[in-house]
Amino acid sequence: RAKHDSHGHVRVYDQAMHNEARQVLTLETEMRRALTTEKNAREMGFTVYYQPIVRISDGLLTGFEALARWIHKESGFIGPDVFIAMAEETGTIHDLGRFILHQSLRDLAGWIDLGCCQDAPEERDIFVSVNISGKQAMRTLFPGEVSGALSTSGLKPTNLKLEVTESVLMEDMTTVGVILSGIKALGIDLCLDDFGTGYSSLAHLHRFPMDVIKIDRAFVSRLSSNGSVDMRAKSMVDAILAMGKSLGLSVVAEGIENIKQARILSKMGCHFAQGYYYAKPLPATDVLAHLQQHGRDWSPKAMGK
Ligand code: C2E
Ligand code: MG
Ligand code: MG
Ligand code: MG
Repeated sequence: RAKHDSHGHVRVYDQAMHNEARQVLTLETEMRRALTTEKNAREMGFTVYYQPIVRISDGLLTGFEALARWIHKESGFIGPDVFIAMAEETGTIHDLGRFILHQSLRDLAGWIDLGCCQDAPEERDIFVSVNISGKQAMRTLFPGEVSGALSTSGLKPTNLKLEVTESVLMEDMTTVGVILSGIKALGIDLCLDDFGTGYSSLAHLHRFPMDVIKIDRAFVSRLSSNGSVDMRAKSMVDAILAMGKSLGLSVVAEGIENIKQARILSKMGCHFAQGYYYAKPLPATDVLAHLQQHGRDWSPKAMGK
């Protein structure tokens, strides 16, 4: 079917557009139904993948970022960029967030119980770093829920970190500030995610009680693009590292894809990294297999790279 719009142009309203709208609706309904219980969520294909965060100098595991996954039995893999936004719009984000938090704490507790994480006692506790969305950071009940999830898991506050992006901080600064202070008061570290890409990054660092900054992958990939070093990107990363150091923050570089980027960052004084070069986000079973075989050694060497 063709139809003339207000400018007299012909627009085609084809079956595909209609189908897509209907599919979104179906997914939203399924998500709402799935997230009523953890068992339903798992059956509907919701799960958590884990990406190691390592010490650059030797590839020692420091913790994992928890990344939500929806592996739908008919539609296949649905990206978090799609279903997280959907969950925010429909209000199911609190249930989804709770599922992710409980699942990732349970998985980490299991790995620690098996003694898989104990071969480097001088290091700080291993952690799982969970992303939270703006709606969660606005919820007065949130710190209490996080505290409850921690007690259920039997883990310590140092075993958990929460990641927020700058867009989260911009929702309503006063409310978010109160909620994040509540999280900090529990002894849980906060990470500022995708640092440098947002609006007014420095002001946010000044205003919110952050412990970790994660340098966005955009800077990392520009560090060494097609063989040469981008001096402007390097200066930016230098500045972020200097600032992190003087503010006493840990800095994690995101999206490391090759040894060259790892070497440059290490030489620049960046201590922690995450990226495909070390490992892609992995299902819990693969993490367990790695821990049983290699312990906390997550250096590319250990994996025969
Ligand atoms: P993020 O928190 O910045 O997560 C890092 C993203 O970069 C992940 O994408 C990860 O798979 C990807 N990544 C990691 N290393 C590399 C690399 O070397 N190269 C490239 N090209 N990509 C890499 P993913 O899993 O698709 O997640 C996308 C975003 O969705 C996340 O960005 C986060 O903002 C959001 N997200 C994921 N899980 C959750 C969740 O449980 N709750 C909330 N609120 N948001 C989530
Ligand atoms: Mg993140
Ligand atoms: Mg990020
Ligand atoms: Mg991101």
